[in-house]
Parts: sequence; C-alpha cells; structure tokens
Amino acid sequence: WWDNVGLAPKDPLLSVTEAFIADANPNNINLGVGAFRDDEGKPLVLQCVRDAEARIAGAEYLESISRQGTLKLVEESVKLAYGENSDVVKEGSFAGVQAISGTGACRLFAEFQRRFQPESRIYLPVPTWSNHHNIWRDAQVPQRTFQYYNLASKGLHFSALMDDVKNAPNHSFFLLHPCAHNPTGIDPTEEQWREISYLFKVKNHFPFFDMAYQGFASGDLEKDAQAIRIFLDDGHLIGCAQSFSKTMGLYGQRVGCLSVLCVDKNQATAVKSQLQQIARAMYGNPPAHGALLVSTILGDPGLKSLWVKEAKVMSDRIMKMRAALRDNLERLGSAFNWEHITNQVGMFCYSGLNPEQIDRLGNEFHIYMPNDGRISMAGVTTGNVDYLANAIHEVTKS
Ligand code: PMP
Repeated sequence: WWDNVGLAPKDPLLSVTEAFIADANPNNINLGVGAFRDDEGKPLVLQCVRDAEARIAGAEYLESISRQGTLKLVEESVKLAYGENSDVVKEGSFAGVQAISGTGACRLFAEFQRRFQPESRIYLPVPTWSNHHNIWRDAQVPQRTFQYYNLASKGLHFSALMDDVKNAPNHSFFLLHPCAHNPTGIDPTEEQWREISYLFKVKNHFPFFDMAYQGFASGDLEKDAQAIRIFLDDGHLIGCAQSFSKTMGLYGQRVGCLSVLCVDKNQATAVKSQLQQIARAMYGNPPAHGALLVSTILGDPGLKSLWVKEAKVMSDRIMKMRAALRDNLERLGSAFNWEHITNQVGMFCYSGLNPEQIDRLGNEFHIYMPNDGRISMAGVTTGNVDYLANAIHEVTKS
C-alpha cells in the first residue's frame, strides 16, 4: 500500500534539538527551544497555572466537553486581544471559537479562507514562522510573500513592506505578527502600524493577525495588542489567532482561540457556525482541560494579575539576557555591531550569524541553533551567556 511513501522532510527545528540531545558535552546549549525556560534552563510551570489546577481539580467537565468552558475561553481571549471595553466585545460582532492552540487557529482560518474566498491567496512576511507555509499549503491557499526583514540594517524593511502591500491586488489576505515577530524579533513601531493600517484600508486588504506572544514583546499585554487596536480603531474587520502555549507555559495543552470580526451579530453567527463545522470534521471538539485552566485564570482578577506579573518576569528575564549577551560581545571587543540583540523583542533574536558560523558553533562549541541564525533567547541563562558570547565572538572573528 505505501511503497510510494518517502520520508517527509525533517523539520529544521527538530534537527536542532536532536543534535543538542546527541551531544553529551556539559557546555552544550540548545538555542532552538521554542518555549520559555527559566534561568536554570528548565521549563516553568506558572504559579497562576498551579493555582488554577487546584481550583478545577475533579471538576465534572472531564466526562464531557464543556460548552461553558469553551465559551468562557473565547470570551476572555477576545477581551485580551481587542480590549475589555472594545465595541467588538460589547456588541459581540465576532465569530470566536476555541482552537487547537495557535497552529490550529491558523489552520482553521486557512480552511475557512479557502472555502469562502476560493480565489484568494495569502501574503506571508519574509521571513515568517516556517509552519505558516505548511498550514496554508495544506489548506490549498496559494501563497505570496511580502518583504519584512532588512538584512543590511537587521531591522524592518518598512518601505519595501509598504511597496508590497501597495502592489498586491486589492482585497488580498495578509498575515501579520502583531508583536514579537517570529523569527526576527522585529516589530513595526506604533507610527508604522498606523501607516500599514491606513494602506490596508485604501487597498481593502484583509489583515489576519497571528498572536502567539502577547506579553512577551514589551511585558505589557495591552501594549503588545497595540497593532490590533490600531486596526480596530481604523474600522478593519480582522481575523486573529491567539495562543497560550508560550505566554502561560501551556504548550502541551494546545489552548488557542480564533476570532473573525464581522459586520454584525447575524454575520458572526453564520461565520461561527461554519468554523465549528470545519472543526467538527477535523477533530471534533477541542480539549477541555487547558481551556478551563486559561479561562479560570483570565476570569479571576486575582489569578489574572498573578499571570500578568509572571508574564512580566518571563519577558524581563529574556530582556536581561539580551542585554547580557550584547554587553559581553562588546566587552570582548567584537568588531561587529550587536545593537540588534537589544533592539529586537520577544523570544527570538535574529542574530545575523551565517550558516558557516552556525556550523562552527555546533562543531566547536556545542551550541545549536537553526541555520537561519535565530537564537531562542529562552535558551540563554546567566550560567551560559559568557560562554555563548565568547563562542559567537570566536566564530565571527575573520
Ligand atoms: N504562530 C507563531 C508566530 C508561532 O511562533 C507559533 C509557535 N511557534 C505559533 C503560531 C503556534 O504555536 P502553538 O500552536 O503552540 O500555539
């Protein structure tokens, strides 16, 4: 039956982890990790999650899906994205469904897009999270790209981005990272978001926001939603994927939300029914446990403020490691400019290291990262930052 099946291409990030695990050297460092790690390099279970676990222990939902749980999760998620007092939330003019984390939210939207806008394409930034390409490919939505990263400045290529937005046919779908862009760690400024939003309006483009890191860019949940709020103020109808994998340390629970803003409540009811039907044929119902944890945390002022504090501690640790890495490189007398390490935000640093330097880091220093040079700052700790800086300095010397 399956003679025609060859090996699927390996996920580049899994190869990084495999290389790290296979290397027993005590100095080895995994800079490919996609999830938060504490200063000891260990996964972190947030206290707000532990408290929520205790509250829901033994709840009856385990024997059946919890419709209430799902509704509550969606209600709380959209408040985070659009603001508690936004008209969207007050009027309920959105179609919101619980999704299998951020990946599932994107996949559900891609399927919905193909079904109801079959002629459309999706514009993805260059670069973007590599799975975006897989997700829209599997939903059979043709892909186009728009420029984002400027190799020379190691920053945003704003003029090129605007040109691509302008040159795309009117009514195009664009995927935007609202904060902590993966993999570059570069976000547009507030003013640039305003210009992007204005141009989207002129062009009648549809903005789909993939928000996997709310709170990780600035340490402030509201500030990290500013791009979405600007688009809302400008009257856009947007789509939004939300994930709680990183921000609540719930990667294994697969908790997320997909929302699509609609012209009114009736349209929202129709859109929601279609999203639910797509989900029903893909995986039935979403899992209850993680959703109940998230809705318990977001729905309780005490637990929510504990989460806000803990999210800030996580983002502060990452910022501290950025500063330490840059500082060390400068102190070693590196001839290169490392400002981008601290200018970039979120979990990732797009280091600018080339594949040859990355190979040397692996072979000579037991330091592993994907060959696009993306450093997961979560893998950097007080204990290994000196060693890392030294190694980067060595491989970047001519
Ligand atoms: N979008 C982006 C930009 C991401 O970086 C990630 C996580 N790597 C996701 C979505 C999806 O993550 P998850 O499915 O774990 O929520």
